[in-house]
Amino acid sequence: MRVCVVGSGGREHALAHVLGRTAEVVVTPGNAAIPGSVPAPPEEVEADLFIVGPEAPLVDGLADRLRAAGRAVFGPGADGARLEGSKAWMKDLLAAAAVPTARYGSFADERSALDFLRTLPGPWVVKTDGLAAGKGVLVTGRLDEAEDDVRAKLAGESFGDAGRTVVIEEGLTGPELSVLAICDGSRAVPLAPAQDFKRVGDDDTGPNTGGMGAYSPVPFAGADVVGTVMDGFVEPTLAELRRRGIDYRGVLYAGLMLTSDGPRLLEYNVRFGDPEAQVVLPRLTTDLAELLAAAAAGDLRRAPGAAFGDDACVAVVLASAGYPGEPRRGDVIDGLDAATARGATVFAAGVARDGDGRLVTAGGRVLAITGTGATIAAARRHAYAGVGCVSWPGMHHRSDIALRPGGKPGRGPNGPAP
Ligand code: AMP
Repeated sequence: MRVCVVGSGGREHALAHVLGRTAEVVVTPGNAAIPGSVPAPPEEVEADLFIVGPEAPLVDGLADRLRAAGRAVFGPGADGARLEGSKAWMKDLLAAAAVPTARYGSFADERSALDFLRTLPGPWVVKTDGLAAGKGVLVTGRLDEAEDDVRAKLAGESFGDAGRTVVIEEGLTGPELSVLAICDGSRAVPLAPAQDFKRVGDDDTGPNTGGMGAYSPVPFAGADVVGTVMDGFVEPTLAELRRRGIDYRGVLYAGLMLTSDGPRLLEYNVRFGDPEAQVVLPRLTTDLAELLAAAAAGDLRRAPGAAFGDDACVAVVLASAGYPGEPRRGDVIDGLDAATARGATVFAAGVARDGDGRLVTAGGRVLAITGTGATIAAARRHAYAGVGCVSWPGMHHRSDIALRPGGKPGRGPNGPAP
């Protein structure tokens, strides 16, 4: 089977790496470090299966255009991608499907937004309705900060048009969990759960990012938790999508918080997580190309299912100077061969070649260094051994990825285990 992966980041590199076990893979446009990268637009690539990696082209209808041209595509059409493209639409769909989520309101005008905000006890959560690369969410214990954020978002100052509608939510606490399900329009197969780390600094400090690291498996998220997520979240959502005439074939990624009142949905993404893909997909022992081809064909019954090995996987994201603000570009990256020699797998995102053919930084999140091991601790050691080999001016990363798997008292992904 010849498979075309659309995208240029670490997620697409991980997809290509794992698909390459059984399929011939091209990546468009890919990047300077992903083998099989081709500059042609996806419409001009010949392949038996197209897998659209990032959310923006999905929201923009790339899967619809490819399907209209007769291609087999794994990735929802623009209708289903609204789950990620509009948080207000997503929250309304959750209400219709009776999926548990944080109390919320969505607003385009400042007066009613601020009025609603002030009725909540705090902490306060303010989200852009539209896409913001994982950075459009403010969680704060200060009402004045939440108010300022509402004003800046609605005025279009901080996130342009993506913020002209905001979703305001009550703040929840508890450990977070990502469960990704492969969907064929009516059936869904869960992948192994992962935890990711969204804030830029150790101990979940600093602003939200696209993701600074991840690990899988998650000690407290066994088959019972996955079953609860499938029965109470994924299945009712797929049913509600179907009821609205939406044939959802792609990844449904549930971002959950396990609160003391039970799991609550924080967000849906309509594609593999980045960096979750880098720790979940390498653990697959079944054929990923077969699985995604079956979902694309609307018939997961013919797929081998999704089985995972016992080994754990930990990914640490290396970011460039300035990230999650405007990243500096053009810094020369050293040490990749040494990292690979230490047994780490390097998935490349924001990279390019300079005039001398050297690999340089070309974006905020540059590399995800992934380690594998019999335990999470061993996988973590292998990942950080790889991280220790790599450097460029201004490089930064978190040092606490998977340090306390399963949780410690606190907030964010390391919050207390239920
Ligand atoms: P989202 O993009 O909606 O997943 O939000 C990004 C991050 O913000 C999540 O991973 C959480 O850490 C945090 N977050 C989102 N919604 C809430 C909420 N209602 N309560 C507390 N934290 C939240």
